[in-house]
Amino acid sequence: MASLKVLFILFDGAEWDVINPLLKRGELPHLAKFMREGSHGSLRSLDGTALASPILWTSMASGKLPYKHGIKDFYDTANAVRCVRLWEIFEHEQLSIGLFGHLLTWPPRPTKGFIIPDWCARTPETFPPEFGFINSLNENKDWQHLLSSGLRSMKHGMRPATALVCVREALREKLFHPQRLDSYYRQRLVQLGIHVDLFVSLLRRYQPYFSVFYTGLPDAVHHQYWQYLEPEKFPNVPKPEVERYGGVIPEIYQRLDRVLERLLRETSPETLVVIASDHGGEANCEEEYRWADIHTENFIEALKLKGLMTAFRVGRKVYLRLRNSATPLGSTEEVAAFIRQAVFAASAHPVFEVEVTGEREMTVETVYLKEELEGQSLRFPDGRLVPVEQVLRLTPRISGNHSMNGILLLRGPNVKKDCEITGASLLDVVPTTLALVGRAVGRDMDGRVLTDAIEPHYLETQPVKYIDSYDQLLGKVTNETIEDSDLGMETVKKRLEDLGYIN
Ligand SMILES: [Zn+2]
Repeated sequence: MASLKVLFILFDGAEWDVINPLLKRGELPHLAKFMREGSHGSLRSLDGTALASPILWTSMASGKLPYKHGIKDFYDTANAVRCVRLWEIFEHEQLSIGLFGHLLTWPPRPTKGFIIPDWCARTPETFPPEFGFINSLNENKDWQHLLSSGLRSMKHGMRPATALVCVREALREKLFHPQRLDSYYRQRLVQLGIHVDLFVSLLRRYQPYFSVFYTGLPDAVHHQYWQYLEPEKFPNVPKPEVERYGGVIPEIYQRLDRVLERLLRETSPETLVVIASDHGGEANCEEEYRWADIHTENFIEALKLKGLMTAFRVGRKVYLRLRNSATPLGSTEEVAAFIRQAVFAASAHPVFEVEVTGEREMTVETVYLKEELEGQSLRFPDGRLVPVEQVLRLTPRISGNHSMNGILLLRGPNVKKDCEITGASLLDVVPTTLALVGRAVGRDMDGRVLTDAIEPHYLETQPVKYIDSYDQLLGKVTNETIEDSDLGMETVKKRLEDLGYIN
């Protein structure tokens, strides 16, 4: 397809430490070939912010730090993005774009091409509108659901082979009622198969100049199955479970390798292909001390701030955000003080460390927990006693967590071959892409052009150009409105719970 000039393949959470042993064993042949044909390296995520995908992908897509783009959590929408993202630069040139699953693309808007929003979308809308059914694929549901969404994909480009897998999995669900860990990754593999089919069909139909394919699969399976990948890092992982689920994460990566091959078939030697993750993955264990997971929804309820505060958890920290500056507990500082003063009723030891991180934001984590928590109560400053188990959980809900380094791989015209890039940050992806397609780089971007990955001859003949700001050029209006309606909020929460970010 000659017209596809730039293709981003985004694997949320993909991690070199998982990839490298598989590469060594020859189990990711297409990725290995891609590495020989281009440049690759670690991609440093952002310091000083929650390692949360909406924040990170927006930084990657804009080349800007979070204080410039304004995105704070999973509850934001595209309306809250305060700067230009890469595809808008191409749209400004009247070029067509195709976005599939990129975070913060809801609500979708008309464009020359397609916009299929991400798993945090509040409603099923897409552009063009007939793809609304894709949204319902983002949930694990029963076999009827699997079957019906699969069948609806048929007329939009799902291949017969994928349809067969869909029917097979639906039957498995119906006949064997598998446990959650058995069906979780299998259903997601079915979704991925359907997504890839639909994306390829959309690519062929719209022939976009710039396109993105995003999948959250690596991150989702890291959260759920990491203890089986590295059982030695966790206390008491049952051996039969290790045998049963130890191969899930490698299997997912092998599948992504085949997805890569399929997507690359839609490119030409003229296409710049960028493969990236926003952060990596690692075992969610802290051996030197014990800590407890905060049950986010119960915690908010215990504060009597239900509906007034949103939360998500990454690792030890819970990130809280007030939806209004005034609450029954007072200002942000007063809410923070209230949480700080909560104690274990028996010992009067404090329970939470709180840091105010913004005008309406704070992070909370549990302090060193020597006490045996079972049967104890927490006492809040207003005198209320709440059972510990209602708010805290001693065993973390998820066994895989986000790590600081993701992956970056580039291939295409003027990209160096078989080259290792060092020191790349996710802020560098957009400046580097712009340089490689002969566009100016914004001086207000926080990343740099990764010149180490570019052929010197190209840089000599096409020196990097600069422009003050695409935000100014495109007349991007700083939009301070926050999506504070409850529309679709329950759907978003359900998906966050499924991944382990809340509750
Ligand atoms: Zn994650």
